[in-house]
Amino acid sequence: MSETTRTTCPYCGVGCGIIASRTANGTVTVKGDPGHPANHGRLCSKGSALGDTVDLDGRLLYPEVRGERVSWDQALETVASGFRRIVAEHGPQAVAFYGSGQMLTEDYYVSNKLFKGFIGTGNVDTNSRLCMASAVAGHKRAFGSDIVPGNYEDLEQADLLIITGSNLAWCHPVIYQRIKAAKARNRQMRVVVIDPRRTDTCEIADLHLPLAPGTDVWLWNGLLAHLSKEGPVDYPFLDAHTEGFGSAVMEARKQGSVPHVAAQTDLPDVDVARLYRWFSQTERTVTLFSQGVNQSSVGTDKVNAIINCHLITGRIGKPGAGPFSITGQPNAMGGREVGGLANQLAAHMGFEEGDLDRVRRFWDAPNLVFGPGHKAVDLFQAMHHGQIKAVWIMATNPLVSLPDADAMREALRGCELVVVSDAMRSTDTTAVADVLLPALTWGEKDGTVTNSERRISRQRAFLPAPGEARPDWWALCRVAERLGFGHAFDYEHPWQIFDEHARLSAFENDGSRDFDIGGLAGLKRQDYDALQPRQWPVRIDGEDTPRLFEDGHFFTANGRAQFVMVEAQAPANSPCVDYPLVLNTGRVRDHWHTMTRTGKAARLSAHTVEPFVQLHPADAVAAGVANGELARVRSRWGEVIGRVSVDRGQRQGNVFVPMHWNDQYAVRGRVDVVVNPVTDPLSGEPEFKHTPVALEPLRPQWHGFLLLREAPAEHPDCAWWAMARGPAFIRYELAGDESPCDLPALAKKLLRGQGEWLEFADSARGSYRAAWVRGGRLLGCLFMGRRETLPERNWLGGLFGKAELEQAERMALLSGRPPKGEMDAGRTVCSCFGVGENTIRQTIANGAGTPEQVTSACQAGGNCGSCLPEIQGLISTMNQRTA
Ligand code: SF4
Repeated sequence: MSETTRTTCPYCGVGCGIIASRTANGTVTVKGDPGHPANHGRLCSKGSALGDTVDLDGRLLYPEVRGERVSWDQALETVASGFRRIVAEHGPQAVAFYGSGQMLTEDYYVSNKLFKGFIGTGNVDTNSRLCMASAVAGHKRAFGSDIVPGNYEDLEQADLLIITGSNLAWCHPVIYQRIKAAKARNRQMRVVVIDPRRTDTCEIADLHLPLAPGTDVWLWNGLLAHLSKEGPVDYPFLDAHTEGFGSAVMEARKQGSVPHVAAQTDLPDVDVARLYRWFSQTERTVTLFSQGVNQSSVGTDKVNAIINCHLITGRIGKPGAGPFSITGQPNAMGGREVGGLANQLAAHMGFEEGDLDRVRRFWDAPNLVFGPGHKAVDLFQAMHHGQIKAVWIMATNPLVSLPDADAMREALRGCELVVVSDAMRSTDTTAVADVLLPALTWGEKDGTVTNSERRISRQRAFLPAPGEARPDWWALCRVAERLGFGHAFDYEHPWQIFDEHARLSAFENDGSRDFDIGGLAGLKRQDYDALQPRQWPVRIDGEDTPRLFEDGHFFTANGRAQFVMVEAQAPANSPCVDYPLVLNTGRVRDHWHTMTRTGKAARLSAHTVEPFVQLHPADAVAAGVANGELARVRSRWGEVIGRVSVDRGQRQGNVFVPMHWNDQYAVRGRVDVVVNPVTDPLSGEPEFKHTPVALEPLRPQWHGFLLLREAPAEHPDCAWWAMARGPAFIRYELAGDESPCDLPALAKKLLRGQGEWLEFADSARGSYRAAWVRGGRLLGCLFMGRRETLPERNWLGGLFGKAELEQAERMALLSGRPPKGEMDAGRTVCSCFGVGENTIRQTIANGAGTPEQVTSACQAGGNCGSCLPEIQGLISTMNQRTA
């Protein structure tokens, strides 16, 4: 028998509904919830693998103070007394809270209330600053409020969908699949992808515009100018519902004609003209944008340049039309709702006197902060300068995710009190904490999250709290009590917090504020437990709001949407002689943020096993690096090491490095050490997509890999390594500078243990191979030598799943290749079924000409479908070669 629970995925902003089942033996399986409107039963590779990530391996289970296990009482007293002393000595602005879009709305609400309302500091910010703050600032400038007007059905109903700054196929796969299915149904539908890189998302694109990074405003201003001359201009809408049209258009017209825009953006004239023509001709147009737009020193201007084009055509608040910001995190939206950003107060209210007075009265808050605090990067820089002396960090790993991350580490080290609430014991950030508070994680937490289309869904607990882990809201309330504010934090369950949050949203609202969930106030606990997904605003009438601005009313002072005059500017720092390339950072398909959860799942680790540096073939030649070599990427701020991946889809002059790797999974794999800490002056969002860098080859004496049945107590002692989990083994990719003749001695050090030792050394070729077998079971193997002589890892990894090696396998072991007649499946492409690239290539070579045929022949792509764009890419490449 198994118990099932309806809950919500904890990863991206799509917010997919999940049915989780827990059996008596504790295993957890998940499937997509067919009744959830975000995904209608679909899940991507990450969501499908959630059951593999709920073990307690690596969990923080007890409070610690300076590395010593303590009771909750002692830990909470350390936190409270530390904050009390620092506030008394230096004032409330000397303390801070740094949260995360992974937090549930209820936890967020309590943290914001405690710090802004009762401790009295505005220094409450979140890692959501790093992904969507520019969208927030752009929305507020244009609409007077932070609103995503449309919903996911608008994406399906569009006849023209422009995807800009988003690799949707990897970062929001279920939305990508919904769009792909809609395109198959509607043959009129066109998709344009605007992205310097050719990503898997381009598999559904009718037009890909690989613009020069940072030149988006030229492209959108050019479109605004074009629309103002060629139409269509919705004059009745402009007259009745907007303001600022004239100045915005005048500025946009400075961009000049299509050839000028094409020159600025480095795009073919014909493609710019095609985009403009399609936009002009298509009433149902949606522009979906994400981090490629937001993460920029001019991110807010990019957002407004997009919105301007929707306002001039009146394409907003209508089915299949509007700008659509898709958020990265599961609850970036919920954090915005409660005031989790330093420049918000609560419930989408700001720091105007009326809002301050209202919130002060509602909370009965004695020390309500009077103005905004530091935004994320400024916050850590204020720590560095000694202005902030205590910080509580919750559900995030900023020493991997912030730009200039090594400087941020120094900032935290300089802080008098660093409190970290986390579910995991060992992260880059917990390593510098004074106090560690064990938190609940997905499956154990109970509360709500809001997805990119304003839909509030329940995340429900179905696993017991392990060890002494406690909800984040509980820990915050216990500290509030110790600080003398217990009367305002006497919640016993998250439904009471949600109720207060809903009541605040409706308090003295009367339709004047966008965020209003008054219709959900007063829920009984059983109603909250049974709460179905709801799309805000849900005002007192209890109705959901799938789409806003249908009546042309906006939340600005005069009710009109604002055109924003946007001047095209280059990003903050340009490439130069010392740093001739532009670094772009982002996500891979199967990992999430800093890998603290996805790194546990073998099937999610199989697709991309190590950090990589993707670059154009011409740049590889110029830098003297070859595909598969290691390379170092350097900026003024730091350096990162990754495996070179030469790819024609990468724009010349740009390199891409994924954001996920941390010190637990690789040596110098933290790309944000390299990233420029400059931020957008309005949104405070950092420039993750445009850091000038240099690239150089790394030529170690030897390369290798190590597969071990058991995780070692320490990482290998060699110059470079990257670690990934396999189904029954741990995999290390290695490189070192020892001379080849020292390899046997080094191997004995790396492959320590007892058992039968098989080895093969070829000193002439500088290669060494060894395996360790006991009772017929493979315990470990090590291959060292020149990179090109190393075998693939898939077959060897599979041997760890066997109770006993067969004779032929034992014989073939040190060759690293399967016995005659078998093929190594190669790098994993389909993580659900573990299907490798070699298998898929063979299937295509045998005649499968479509992804569906590949699926039916070898299963690849037959579950979540996240790998289907990659399979399509393999088919296209192989067809090109044979054409
Ligand atoms: Fe989770 Fe994938 Fe859905 Fe995003 S698309 S919410 S990661 S299942």
